[in-house]
Amino acid sequence: MKVAVIGGGAAGFFAAINTKIHHPNASVTLLEKSKKVLAKVKISGGGRCNVTTATEHISNLCKAYPRGGKQLKPLFKRFNNKHTIDWFESRGVPLKSEADLRMFPISNRSQSIIDCLLGEINKLGIKVELGRSVSKVTHKVKHGHSNYQLHFNQTNTPPVYFDKLIIATGGSPKVQGFEWLKTLGHSISLPVPSLFTFNIKNPALNQLMGLSVKQAHIQIQGQKLKSEGPVLITHWGLSGPAILKLSAFGARALNELDYKFNIQINWINEHNQEKSAASLKVFLENNYQKQIGKTRPFAFPSRFWDYLLKRSQIDPQKKCGDIGKKGLNKLIQVLSYDIYTVNGKSTFKEEFVTCGGVELQNLDLTSMQSKHCQGMYFAGEVLDIDGITGGFNFQAAWTTAFIASQLK
Ligand SMILES: Cc1cc2nc3c(=O)[nH]c(=O)nc-3n(C[C@H](O)[C@H](O)[C@H](O)COP(=O)(O)OP(=O)(O)OC[C@H]3O[C@@H](n4cnc5c(N)ncnc54)[C@H](O)[C@@H]3O)c2cc1C
Repeated sequence: MKVAVIGGGAAGFFAAINTKIHHPNASVTLLEKSKKVLAKVKISGGGRCNVTTATEHISNLCKAYPRGGKQLKPLFKRFNNKHTIDWFESRGVPLKSEADLRMFPISNRSQSIIDCLLGEINKLGIKVELGRSVSKVTHKVKHGHSNYQLHFNQTNTPPVYFDKLIIATGGSPKVQGFEWLKTLGHSISLPVPSLFTFNIKNPALNQLMGLSVKQAHIQIQGQKLKSEGPVLITHWGLSGPAILKLSAFGARALNELDYKFNIQINWINEHNQEKSAASLKVFLENNYQKQIGKTRPFAFPSRFWDYLLKRSQIDPQKKCGDIGKKGLNKLIQVLSYDIYTVNGKSTFKEEFVTCGGVELQNLDLTSMQSKHCQGMYFAGEVLDIDGITGGFNFQAAWTTAFIASQLK
């Protein structure tokens, strides 16, 4: 049996290696269009590769995927983050988890993951061919057996034949990137970017760059989209887990808004305004002799508290006891209903994923096999599956590749 894996990223490598493990007699060839394999793994996680997550329970794992979470559930029962950890650790790459459950190689180097994958490829005798950009696939069924002919962009390269294919070509920002898969009968969900930060032009806010607020609640005005968690202030706007999560869950809706919308932020993540007012009132009463600018309610960094006071038009030198009802109301309004205009997006440490791709209804999800082309399987970001940051995108690549590699 001749198997070709198209795409030399995380999903392609994992699929090729596990195909050879599941089918030792198969001849496995990995075809990569560029001159470099595992390019994204190398730069992932700021060069440390956030290889998976320490999230417990499959149901929690699924919640991290704005698209594909439900469909991943049965697949995670067969290969989840615990299997990923075992897979790498049993091949000499110990992993560690951080407080936010992200998992990295103990070496803190993505190269450890790359060395492991390359080592397995060599050990198993898998051929890797670089500079092989597949432009077209033709599919024939002869005597009940599939036969695939691969054509390449390079004109001097003759077509080659395989019995089975695993497509692991990753995401593409343009729908044209999926054209050759569409020709084979697969429907494509329009690709749009996911995982981005919000551009907000507000000099006073931008000056606070580097500062983070531990637990904020953010909502997109006019939409049901909301998220909560840490928010990081940057020189161009807002970033951090709560913003990235919102960008992922809102990837399509925010694209439709051309990345121009208003957000309302609850900096204390307390939705009951009366409760917020009551606790602030008690705080002010307990500190009535102190200048409000010298206090630090809600454990805010002092620079951030100064900013909020300014935004509420409260003189920081005023004593807490002299704020009055009007001042208290204005402060509560800013703390729990602070509105900003977002105009555009930026990437976060160059990390992004594609929302969209080959629609999952094209596949038999017990095997990742195409319903249109027998013997053609899919894995990784080429699919309409994407996760929030935290190792979930690699986990989807490992899981789908592992299942596809069974060639069932
Ligand atoms: C900067 C950055 C940092 C990231 N960090 C993390 C992280 O720490 N943790 C995490 O979980 N996720 C992270 N991600 C997301 C993660 O990298 C991707 O989800 C993952 O790499 C997808 O793997 P893949 O193999 O499906 O696709 P890719 O890694 O994109 O690989 C696809 C490969 O296929 C090749 N290819 C494409 N078309 C063809 C063709 N026609 N013929 C032959 N070859 C082709 C491409 O050249 C490429 O090498 C990061 C993404 C970026 C951009």
